[in-house]
Amino acid sequence: MANIQQRLPENVPGDFFVDATCIDCDTCSQLAPGIFRDHGEQCSVYHQPESEADTRLAMMALVACPTGSIGANEKHDARIGIDAFPSLIADNVYFCGFTSESSFGGWSYLIVRPESEGGNLLIDSPRFATQLVKRIERLGGVSQMLLTHRDDIADHELFRKKFGCKRVMHADDGAARLGVEQVIEGESAIQLDNDVVAIPTPGHTRGHTVFLYRERFLFTGDHLAWSPTRQTLTAFRSVAWYSWARQTESMASLAQYDFEWVLPGHGSLHHDTKQNMRYHLQSCIAWMKTR
Ligand code: SF4
Repeated sequence: MANIQQRLPENVPGDFFVDATCIDCDTCSQLAPGIFRDHGEQCSVYHQPESEADTRLAMMALVACPTGSIGANEKHDARIGIDAFPSLIADNVYFCGFTSESSFGGWSYLIVRPESEGGNLLIDSPRFATQLVKRIERLGGVSQMLLTHRDDIADHELFRKKFGCKRVMHADDGAARLGVEQVIEGESAIQLDNDVVAIPTPGHTRGHTVFLYRERFLFTGDHLAWSPTRQTLTAFRSVAWYSWARQTESMASLAQYDFEWVLPGHGSLHHDTKQNMRYHLQSCIAWMKTR
């Protein structure tokens, strides 16, 4: 729970606030950009909610925050935020909210599919919060967890125990040590089922892997995201822990795939036409070569 005594001075006066425990994961500023902003090393409220819709977004941010750093002076029904997750993005793809501090607030996603299509997929791991787990259970549970890389796996083991799901992860990010059931090896893409392709993308980490669903949704972990300031696709040089050169090569190899959505673990998500995404990906590759 956020502590009013630790309210950051950057917050504007009013109901909602961020306290000093904020780790600057940017979940709130991405989820509710009209209310929260990154003022430097942390986030704060720059515009208090003025409508029911705004209040709902602020409550969703409060629930999604990995460190419980968002608070409110007035009493609000917590279910406004809790019941909003998983939150529909498009088609059958949802954002899970309930981010985890151990993943530095990394975003995870749920694909809801009938058993005949292989059942539900959880891409990276949210916090194992009872309210979220019950809602996922009502949506059909989890058949498989697709883990993009070692940093964003959070409570994967608890989800596996709860739902008996198979996990998929690359060997070079320690999959065997984690007891992962399907270990990907090498750098060739693997068709996991009719709709899902695992594409190894070494760079951020050695075993980083992105997952492409129905040639529409690309779950990019920490490999690729949208830059709101540059208005194009981008990658993060400062966290290319394995190799920026390898990440640039991995990015170039993605050019052979079509997608309309980029859904990252960190950074902004984006939707556009396949043609525009191809253009933005080429810009990103050219930009990476100059860094
Ligand atoms: S979601 Fe929480 S930890 Fe992340 S930036 Fe916002 S207040 Fe800080």
